[in-house]
Amino acid sequence: MLAQYAVANNRLSEREHEEPGHEYRSAFQRDRDRIVHSKAFRRLEYKTQVFVNHLGDNFRTRLTHSIEVSQIARTVSRSLNLNEDLTETLALAHDLGHPPFGHAGERGLHRLMKNHGGFDHNEQSLRIVTRLERRYPLFDGLNLTQATRLGLQKHTPPQGSSHFLECQVVDLCDEIAYNNHDLDDGLDSGYLNLEDLSSISLWKRLWEQVNAEFSEIDQTVAIRHTIRGLINLMVSDLIENVKENLRRHNIETFEDVLAYGEGEESPTPLVSFSEPLRSEVIQLKKYLFRNLYRHAEVVTMNARAEEIVSRLFGFFTGNIEIMPQEYFNRDDQDDHYRIVADFIAGMTDRYALHWNRKILGVDG
Ligand code: MG
Repeated sequence: MLAQYAVANNRLSEREHEEPGHEYRSAFQRDRDRIVHSKAFRRLEYKTQVFVNHLGDNFRTRLTHSIEVSQIARTVSRSLNLNEDLTETLALAHDLGHPPFGHAGERGLHRLMKNHGGFDHNEQSLRIVTRLERRYPLFDGLNLTQATRLGLQKHTPPQGSSHFLECQVVDLCDEIAYNNHDLDDGLDSGYLNLEDLSSISLWKRLWEQVNAEFSEIDQTVAIRHTIRGLINLMVSDLIENVKENLRRHNIETFEDVLAYGEGEESPTPLVSFSEPLRSEVIQLKKYLFRNLYRHAEVVTMNARAEEIVSRLFGFFTGNIEIMPQEYFNRDDQDDHYRIVADFIAGMTDRYALHWNRKILGVDG
Protein backbone atom coordinates (compact mmCIF):
# COMPACT_ATOMS: atom_id res chain seq x y z
CA MET A 1 0.00 0.00 0.00
CA LEU A 2 3.01 2.29 -0.34
CA ALA A 3 2.52 5.66 -2.03
CA GLN A 4 4.42 6.39 -5.25
CA TYR A 5 6.41 9.04 -3.37
CA ALA A 6 7.62 6.53 -0.73
CA VAL A 7 10.86 4.55 -0.81
CA ALA A 8 9.72 1.24 -2.31
CA ASN A 9 11.18 -1.94 -0.79
CA ASN A 10 13.32 -2.60 -3.86
CA ARG A 11 14.62 0.97 -4.08
CA LEU A 12 18.02 1.95 -2.65
CA SER A 13 18.13 -1.56 -1.22
CA GLU A 14 21.65 -2.44 -2.44
CA ARG A 15 24.09 -3.44 0.28
CA GLU A 16 27.82 -2.65 0.36
CA HIS A 17 28.58 -6.36 0.04
CA GLU A 18 26.24 -8.49 -1.99
CA GLU A 19 24.03 -10.84 0.03
CA PRO A 20 21.09 -13.01 -0.96
CA GLY A 21 17.65 -11.63 0.01
CA HIS A 22 15.79 -13.06 2.98
CA GLU A 23 12.91 -15.49 2.67
CA TYR A 24 10.31 -13.47 4.60
CA ARG A 25 11.87 -10.18 5.73
CA SER A 26 12.24 -7.10 3.51
CA ALA A 27 15.66 -5.48 3.14
CA PHE A 28 14.67 -2.67 5.53
CA GLN A 29 13.28 -5.07 8.14
CA ARG A 30 16.66 -6.78 8.11
CA ASP A 31 18.43 -3.45 8.56
CA ARG A 32 16.25 -2.74 11.60
CA ASP A 33 16.96 -6.15 13.09
CA ARG A 34 20.70 -5.73 12.57
CA ILE A 35 20.58 -2.39 14.37
CA VAL A 36 18.61 -3.79 17.31
CA HIS A 37 21.15 -6.61 17.66
CA SER A 38 24.17 -4.27 17.56
CA LYS A 39 26.38 -3.44 20.50
CA ALA A 40 26.07 0.30 19.82
CA PHE A 41 22.28 0.06 20.17
CA ARG A 42 22.45 -1.66 23.56
CA ARG A 43 24.85 1.00 24.82
CA LEU A 44 22.26 3.73 24.18
CA GLU A 45 20.64 2.60 27.43
CA TYR A 46 23.46 4.18 29.42
CA LYS A 47 24.00 7.32 27.39
CA THR A 48 22.69 10.74 28.40
CA GLN A 49 19.92 12.45 26.51
CA VAL A 50 19.75 15.68 28.59
CA PHE A 51 19.87 14.39 32.13
CA VAL A 52 23.01 12.49 33.04
CA ASN A 53 22.18 8.85 33.29
CA HIS A 54 22.85 8.31 36.98
CA LEU A 55 20.68 11.28 38.12
CA GLY A 56 17.53 9.20 38.12
CA ASP A 57 15.91 6.14 36.64
CA ASN A 58 12.84 7.97 35.37
CA PHE A 59 14.59 10.29 32.93
CA ARG A 60 14.92 9.56 29.25
CA THR A 61 18.10 7.95 28.05
CA ARG A 62 19.20 7.86 24.46
CA LEU A 63 17.64 4.41 24.16
CA THR A 64 14.17 5.38 25.36
CA HIS A 65 14.44 8.57 23.30
CA SER A 66 15.17 6.52 20.18
CA ILE A 67 12.20 4.24 20.89
CA GLU A 68 9.91 7.27 21.33
CA VAL A 69 11.13 8.77 18.05
CA SER A 70 10.52 5.46 16.32
CA GLN A 71 6.99 5.09 17.65
CA ILE A 72 6.00 8.65 16.66
CA ALA A 73 7.70 8.42 13.26
CA ARG A 74 6.01 5.09 12.46
CA THR A 75 2.60 6.63 13.10
CA VAL A 76 3.36 9.54 10.78
CA SER A 77 4.89 7.27 8.17
CA ARG A 78 1.99 4.85 8.15
CA SER A 79 -0.57 7.66 7.90
CA LEU A 80 1.22 9.01 4.83
CA ASN A 81 1.67 5.55 3.22
CA LEU A 82 5.43 5.86 3.50
CA ASN A 83 7.77 2.94 4.12
CA GLU A 84 7.25 2.21 7.82
CA ASP A 85 10.06 -0.38 8.02
CA LEU A 86 12.62 2.07 6.66
CA THR A 87 11.27 4.82 8.95
CA GLU A 88 11.60 2.58 12.00
CA THR A 89 15.12 1.57 11.02
CA LEU A 90 16.28 5.17 10.65
CA ALA A 91 14.63 6.23 13.91
CA LEU A 92 16.22 3.44 15.95
CA ALA A 93 19.63 4.13 14.40
CA HIS A 94 19.60 7.93 14.32
CA ASP A 95 21.54 8.45 17.58
CA LEU A 96 23.88 5.43 17.48
CA GLY A 97 26.91 7.68 17.01
CA HIS A 98 26.29 9.87 20.05
CA PRO A 99 29.20 10.01 22.51
CA PRO A 100 28.58 9.78 26.28
CA PHE A 101 27.15 12.84 28.11
CA GLY A 102 24.88 14.11 25.33
CA HIS A 103 25.75 17.20 23.32
CA ALA A 104 28.45 18.23 25.77
CA GLY A 105 30.32 15.01 24.97
CA GLU A 106 29.99 15.67 21.26
CA ARG A 107 31.13 19.29 21.60
CA GLY A 108 34.16 18.19 23.58
CA LEU A 109 35.13 15.47 21.15
CA HIS A 110 34.71 17.78 18.17
CA ARG A 111 36.98 20.38 19.78
CA LEU A 112 39.64 17.75 20.51
CA MET A 113 39.41 16.36 16.97
CA LYS A 114 39.42 19.80 15.30
CA ASN A 115 42.80 19.32 13.64
CA HIS A 116 42.16 15.64 12.92
CA GLY A 117 38.99 15.71 10.85
CA GLY A 118 36.49 16.78 13.56
CA PHE A 119 33.71 14.74 15.12
CA ASP A 120 30.03 14.62 14.18
CA HIS A 121 27.51 12.16 15.66
CA ASN A 122 25.74 11.60 12.32
CA GLU A 123 29.01 10.71 10.63
CA GLN A 124 29.81 8.48 13.60
CA SER A 125 26.48 6.63 13.27
CA LEU A 126 27.51 5.84 9.71
CA ARG A 127 31.01 4.70 10.78
CA ILE A 128 29.43 2.36 13.32
CA VAL A 129 27.13 0.66 10.84
CA THR A 130 29.67 0.53 8.01
CA ARG A 131 32.86 -0.32 9.91
CA LEU A 132 32.97 -0.43 13.69
CA GLU A 133 30.41 -3.14 14.44
CA ARG A 134 32.05 -6.51 13.96
CA ARG A 135 29.80 -9.54 13.92
CA TYR A 136 29.85 -10.91 10.38
CA PRO A 137 32.52 -13.26 9.05
CA LEU A 138 32.85 -11.68 5.60
CA PHE A 139 32.79 -7.95 6.31
CA ASP A 140 33.07 -5.25 8.96
CA GLY A 141 29.96 -3.24 9.82
CA LEU A 142 26.34 -4.31 9.45
CA ASN A 143 26.19 -4.20 5.65
CA LEU A 144 23.00 -2.12 5.62
CA THR A 145 21.07 -0.95 2.57
CA GLN A 146 21.90 2.22 0.70
CA ALA A 147 18.66 3.87 1.92
CA THR A 148 19.61 3.40 5.57
CA ARG A 149 23.16 4.61 5.01
CA LEU A 150 21.93 7.69 3.13
CA GLY A 151 19.28 8.35 5.76
CA LEU A 152 21.86 8.41 8.54
CA GLN A 153 23.79 11.16 6.77
CA LYS A 154 21.09 13.70 7.49
CA HIS A 155 22.94 16.60 5.99
CA THR A 156 23.74 15.09 2.62
CA PRO A 157 20.70 14.45 0.46
CA PRO A 158 21.35 11.64 -2.02
CA GLN A 159 20.77 13.58 -5.22
CA GLY A 160 18.71 16.53 -6.39
CA SER A 161 18.13 18.76 -3.41
CA SER A 162 15.76 16.95 -1.06
CA HIS A 163 16.10 13.91 1.14
CA PHE A 164 13.54 11.12 0.79
CA LEU A 165 10.42 11.56 2.92
CA GLU A 166 11.08 8.75 5.42
CA CYS A 167 14.31 10.49 6.41
CA GLN A 168 12.60 13.88 6.74
CA VAL A 169 9.87 12.30 8.88
CA VAL A 170 12.41 10.84 11.31
CA ASP A 171 14.15 14.21 11.55
CA LEU A 172 10.99 16.06 12.52
CA CYS A 173 9.71 13.30 14.81
CA ASP A 174 13.06 13.46 16.61
CA GLU A 175 12.13 17.08 17.38
CA ILE A 176 8.59 16.20 18.43
CA ALA A 177 9.91 13.53 20.76
CA TYR A 178 12.60 15.59 22.48
CA ASN A 179 10.58 18.80 22.81
CA ASN A 180 7.89 16.86 24.63
CA HIS A 181 9.99 14.50 26.72
CA ASP A 182 12.33 17.31 27.73
CA LEU A 183 9.28 19.23 28.98
CA ASP A 184 8.23 16.12 30.90
CA ASP A 185 11.68 15.41 32.37
CA GLY A 186 12.26 19.14 32.94
CA LEU A 187 9.11 19.47 35.05
CA ASP A 188 9.78 16.18 36.82
CA SER A 189 13.28 17.30 37.82
CA GLY A 190 12.07 20.70 39.03
CA TYR A 191 14.35 22.53 36.58
CA LEU A 192 11.23 23.80 34.79
CA ASN A 193 8.11 25.14 36.47
CA LEU A 194 4.48 25.64 35.55
CA GLU A 195 4.50 29.41 36.17
CA ASP A 196 7.18 30.08 33.56
CA LEU A 197 5.55 27.67 31.18
CA SER A 198 2.26 29.59 31.22
CA SER A 199 3.95 32.23 29.02
CA ILE A 200 4.27 29.64 26.23
CA SER A 201 1.16 29.81 24.05
CA LEU A 202 1.09 26.15 23.01
CA TRP A 203 1.45 24.91 26.57
CA LYS A 204 -1.04 27.44 27.98
CA ARG A 205 -3.76 26.48 25.51
CA LEU A 206 -3.54 22.73 26.20
CA TRP A 207 -2.97 23.09 29.93
CA GLU A 208 -6.13 25.22 30.26
CA GLN A 209 -8.14 22.74 28.19
CA VAL A 210 -7.06 19.84 30.39
CA ASN A 211 -7.84 21.71 33.61
CA ALA A 212 -11.20 22.92 32.30
CA GLU A 213 -12.20 19.40 31.33
CA PHE A 214 -11.03 17.75 34.59
CA SER A 215 -11.48 20.22 37.45
CA GLU A 216 -10.28 17.85 40.20
CA ILE A 217 -7.27 16.57 38.31
CA ASP A 218 -4.01 15.72 40.07
CA GLN A 219 -1.24 18.05 38.89
CA THR A 220 1.15 15.31 37.81
CA VAL A 221 -1.58 13.67 35.76
CA ALA A 222 -2.53 17.06 34.28
CA ILE A 223 1.08 17.56 33.15
CA ARG A 224 1.22 14.15 31.49
CA HIS A 225 -2.17 14.60 29.89
CA THR A 226 -1.12 18.02 28.54
CA ILE A 227 2.06 16.55 27.04
CA ARG A 228 0.07 13.71 25.52
CA GLY A 229 -2.17 16.34 23.92
CA LEU A 230 0.85 18.28 22.67
CA ILE A 231 2.34 15.24 20.94
CA ASN A 232 -0.99 14.46 19.35
CA LEU A 233 -1.43 18.05 18.18
CA MET A 234 2.06 18.19 16.63
CA VAL A 235 1.72 14.80 14.94
CA SER A 236 -1.74 15.62 13.52
CA ASP A 237 -0.60 19.02 12.25
CA LEU A 238 2.45 17.42 10.66
CA ILE A 239 0.49 14.72 8.83
CA GLU A 240 -2.06 17.20 7.48
CA ASN A 241 0.58 19.71 6.48
CA VAL A 242 2.70 17.14 4.63
CA LYS A 243 -0.39 16.06 2.68
CA GLU A 244 -1.06 19.70 1.85
CA ASN A 245 2.58 20.29 0.80
CA LEU A 246 2.56 17.23 -1.44
CA ARG A 247 -0.65 18.43 -3.09
CA ARG A 248 0.49 22.03 -3.47
CA HIS A 249 3.82 21.08 -5.06
CA ASN A 250 2.38 18.25 -7.20
CA ILE A 251 4.60 15.64 -5.61
CA GLU A 252 3.51 12.26 -6.90
CA THR A 253 6.58 10.11 -7.32
CA PHE A 254 9.82 9.36 -5.50
CA GLU A 255 11.67 11.33 -8.20
CA ASP A 256 9.42 14.35 -7.54
CA VAL A 257 10.45 14.23 -3.86
CA LEU A 258 14.17 14.29 -4.67
CA ALA A 259 13.80 17.04 -7.25
CA TYR A 260 11.69 19.24 -4.97
CA GLY A 261 13.22 22.65 -4.24
CA GLU A 262 16.04 22.20 -6.75
CA GLY A 263 17.85 25.47 -7.31
CA GLU A 264 15.91 27.27 -4.58
CA GLU A 265 17.76 29.04 -1.80
CA SER A 266 16.13 27.30 1.19
CA PRO A 267 12.84 25.68 0.24
CA THR A 268 10.43 24.81 3.07
CA PRO A 269 10.91 21.07 3.62
CA LEU A 270 7.98 18.92 2.47
CA VAL A 271 7.90 17.43 5.96
CA SER A 272 7.21 20.47 8.12
CA PHE A 273 4.62 21.88 10.51
CA SER A 274 2.00 24.35 9.32
CA GLU A 275 3.18 27.96 9.60
CA PRO A 276 1.09 28.85 12.71
CA LEU A 277 2.26 25.77 14.62
CA ARG A 278 5.84 26.23 13.47
CA SER A 279 6.11 29.63 15.19
CA GLU A 280 4.57 28.25 18.38
CA VAL A 281 7.04 25.33 18.38
CA ILE A 282 9.90 27.81 17.96
CA GLN A 283 8.64 29.70 21.03
CA LEU A 284 8.59 26.43 23.00
CA LYS A 285 12.09 25.49 21.83
CA LYS A 286 13.47 28.88 22.87
CA TYR A 287 11.88 28.40 26.27
CA LEU A 288 13.49 24.96 26.65
CA PHE A 289 16.84 26.34 25.54
CA ARG A 290 16.82 29.20 28.06
CA ASN A 291 15.33 27.32 30.99
CA LEU A 292 16.46 23.72 30.61
CA TYR A 293 19.50 23.39 28.35
CA ARG A 294 21.02 26.54 29.92
CA HIS A 295 19.90 25.68 33.47
CA ALA A 296 22.79 26.13 35.92
CA GLU A 297 22.76 22.44 36.92
CA VAL A 298 22.79 21.27 33.30
CA VAL A 299 25.52 23.75 32.34
CA THR A 300 27.65 22.58 35.30
CA MET A 301 27.19 18.92 34.35
CA ASN A 302 28.07 19.74 30.75
CA ALA A 303 31.27 21.49 31.77
CA ARG A 304 32.23 18.47 33.85
CA ALA A 305 31.42 16.15 30.95
CA GLU A 306 33.65 18.11 28.55
CA GLU A 307 36.43 17.97 31.10
CA ILE A 308 36.11 14.18 31.42
CA VAL A 309 36.07 13.64 27.65
CA SER A 310 39.13 15.84 27.36
CA ARG A 311 40.95 13.92 30.11
CA LEU A 312 40.12 10.59 28.48
CA PHE A 313 41.26 11.81 25.07
CA GLY A 314 44.57 13.07 26.42
CA PHE A 315 45.14 9.86 28.32
CA PHE A 316 44.35 7.45 25.49
CA THR A 317 46.20 9.35 22.77
CA GLY A 318 49.26 9.11 25.05
CA ASN A 319 48.66 5.47 26.05
CA ILE A 320 47.06 3.98 22.97
CA GLU A 321 48.36 0.47 23.73
CA ILE A 322 45.94 0.26 26.68
CA MET A 323 42.90 0.38 24.41
CA PRO A 324 41.03 -2.85 23.56
CA GLN A 325 42.72 -4.78 20.77
CA GLU A 326 39.58 -4.85 18.61
CA TYR A 327 40.09 -1.15 17.82
CA PHE A 328 43.31 -1.94 15.96
CA ASN A 329 42.17 -4.97 14.03
CA ARG A 330 40.62 -2.98 11.23
CA ASP A 331 41.83 -2.89 7.69
CA ASP A 332 41.59 0.90 7.35
CA GLN A 333 44.11 3.69 7.51
CA ASP A 334 42.76 5.75 10.44
CA ASP A 335 45.27 7.67 12.51
CA HIS A 336 45.41 7.09 16.26
CA TYR A 337 43.34 10.22 17.00
CA ARG A 338 40.40 8.75 15.09
CA ILE A 339 40.81 5.39 16.80
CA VAL A 340 40.72 7.08 20.22
CA ALA A 341 37.68 9.14 19.18
CA ASP A 342 35.91 5.91 18.13
CA PHE A 343 36.70 4.36 21.49
CA ILE A 344 35.51 7.36 23.53
CA ALA A 345 32.42 7.94 21.39
CA GLY A 346 31.42 4.32 21.92
CA MET A 347 31.55 4.63 25.71
CA THR A 348 28.47 4.81 27.87
CA ASP A 349 28.36 7.54 30.54
CA ARG A 350 29.22 5.09 33.28
CA TYR A 351 32.09 3.51 31.36
CA ALA A 352 33.54 6.99 30.74
CA LEU A 353 33.18 7.76 34.46
CA HIS A 354 34.88 4.46 35.28
CA TRP A 355 37.93 5.42 33.16
CA ASN A 356 37.90 8.93 34.57
CA ARG A 357 38.17 7.56 38.11
CA LYS A 358 40.86 5.14 37.04
CA ILE A 359 42.95 7.86 35.41
CA LEU A 360 42.57 10.13 38.43
CA GLY A 361 43.48 7.19 40.66
CA VAL A 362 40.28 7.62 42.68
CA ASP A 363 39.66 3.90 42.72
CA GLY A 364 41.46 0.83 41.51
MG1 MG B 1 17.68 12.21 18.58
